[in-house]
Amino acid sequence: MKKSPLEIKILSKMQPGEITLNGFLGEDSRDLYDIIAEDERTLETLGVSANELADKMQYFTDKSSDSFMDSVEIDEIFIVDTEVVRGKLPCPFSHPGIYRKTITTLTNKKYNITIRWTALNIHLIKEHHFFEGKNSAFRLDPQVLLKALFA
Ligand SMILES: [Zn+2]
Repeated sequence: MKKSPLEIKILSKMQPGEITLNGFLGEDSRDLYDIIAEDERTLETLGVSANELADKMQYFTDKSSDSFMDSVEIDEIFIVDTEVVRGKLPCPFSHPGIYRKTITTLTNKKYNITIRWTALNIHLIKEHHFFEGKNSAFRLDPQVLLKALFA
């Protein structure tokens, strides 16, 4: 399908070196809306909403941001650490507003899974149902996310 001007604009902002060093798409050459649609189908199969995942990510980010220690243990299962990096990032979908550069790393001890996300990832999932392209540095697979966040 022919890409709309808006999609072309968003895709250009998602390229490496535009907003982030590695970009948002990895080696995914599919249409942006196909990437989103496939993850939405996965969410439906899993029975979880993007909102629920994003809210839980935000919860862990907030809990670990409050801590003065390197990492916090939550509910005896999760080890969470949030690192705040200098600078802010805009949303590639051209929303007004910018997002703090934070990187949250969560280890789920029950399943032995470690995942990481940024404040921008939370926004992209919540507002755009965008989990990033295949092999992107910060790609978050919905199935892995669900397992890691809800032990
Ligand atoms: Zn946005």
